[in-house]
Amino acid sequence: MWLTGRLVPDHKTIADFRKDNGRAIRQVCARFVALCRTLGLFTEACVAIDGSKFKAVNNRDKNFTRAKMERRMAQIEESVARYLHQLDSADRQEPSLAGETKTTRLKEKIAKLKEEMQRLHALEARMLATPDQQISLTDPDARSMATSGRGSGVVGYNVQVAVDTKHHLIVTHEVTNDGSDRAQLAIIACQAKEVLGVDELEAVADRGYYSGEEILACHEAGIAVTLPKPITSGIEAKGRFGKQDFVYLSEEDVYRCPAGEKLSYHYTNEENGLVLRRYWTNACQSCGIKRRCTTGKERRITRWEHEHVLEAVQKRLDKNPQAMRLRRETVEHPFGTLKMRMGATHFLMKRLPKVATEMALHVLAYNLTRVMNIMGIQPLMAAIRA
Ligand code: SF4
Repeated sequence: MWLTGRLVPDHKTIADFRKDNGRAIRQVCARFVALCRTLGLFTEACVAIDGSKFKAVNNRDKNFTRAKMERRMAQIEESVARYLHQLDSADRQEPSLAGETKTTRLKEKIAKLKEEMQRLHALEARMLATPDQQISLTDPDARSMATSGRGSGVVGYNVQVAVDTKHHLIVTHEVTNDGSDRAQLAIIACQAKEVLGVDELEAVADRGYYSGEEILACHEAGIAVTLPKPITSGIEAKGRFGKQDFVYLSEEDVYRCPAGEKLSYHYTNEENGLVLRRYWTNACQSCGIKRRCTTGKERRITRWEHEHVLEAVQKRLDKNPQAMRLRRETVEHPFGTLKMRMGATHFLMKRLPKVATEMALHVLAYNLTRVMNIMGIQPLMAAIRA
């Protein structure tokens, strides 16, 4: 309205404008970030990376995964069996008007459930033909995704952002329908580095992004990431020494174990495309603390050929334990604001490209109001005009 000199377009005109100008809207969002850069708002080459799930225009009941389908079919079969049983009992009763009404009602219910079962079978065939064996009926690109809340999940999109740690401006964002953050770190960090135009960038993320390959890709692109390693091995949970209790001595290419023994290199092999070096010692059999270390003949330690990159990540985290707090405070601001403004239903448009446009518009609005708060409206207007 401001741009068009106080014209008041109706909602259809606005919706069409948004639908027909997706590319331009996304470009304006990127141009505004470039303007922030020329205004010197990105003084620290440091970003926090995070993802959040946003609901799509797709009810949870209209999304089917293999597990959901099986659950729904089992429920229907159970209900049909229950109604058939009730029908048998009704047949054994003395004929009466009430009995007849009940029988008719039960038969109708069974017929409806059978129809639903046929519909599900047809959907199942469509679902199994898709690459990820999942279909969403209202917005076909939306996907069922787990969220951090226990037992909760949404059918929606995963929005990734890189946020500058000083002013909390969104440097770059990406909308995906991949529910996992694990393969997103390098792409979003590299995009942020390019937008900021820096040679070196620091990025903080949470443990959901921990992936050796992604961290290596960032390292090779001049991005120093800081993030904690998830505890996935059950060894520590059982009270035994974890890998972090073994110190790598690079000059000797050995690991020093908690008993002070040196685990030497034995052989290299490849597993899932990763080159892994194996270390162990024969001293384990006579070790006094073996019980706390391994149940096998000896404890073996595996070292990825690029493990030094992961060790550097851990060192950065040890040196800066506040990094995770900084990450949380930085990303909570934009995600909290975006979700509050978008309301409970979140996205209004369907299909990934349109949802990406809608998000670009929200990011633009967030960054615009943020800059107004940082430098004031008049200086911002002057900078836009210049
Ligand atoms: S069991 Fe082996 S690796 Fe473990 S502490 Fe003892 S000597 Fe070291």
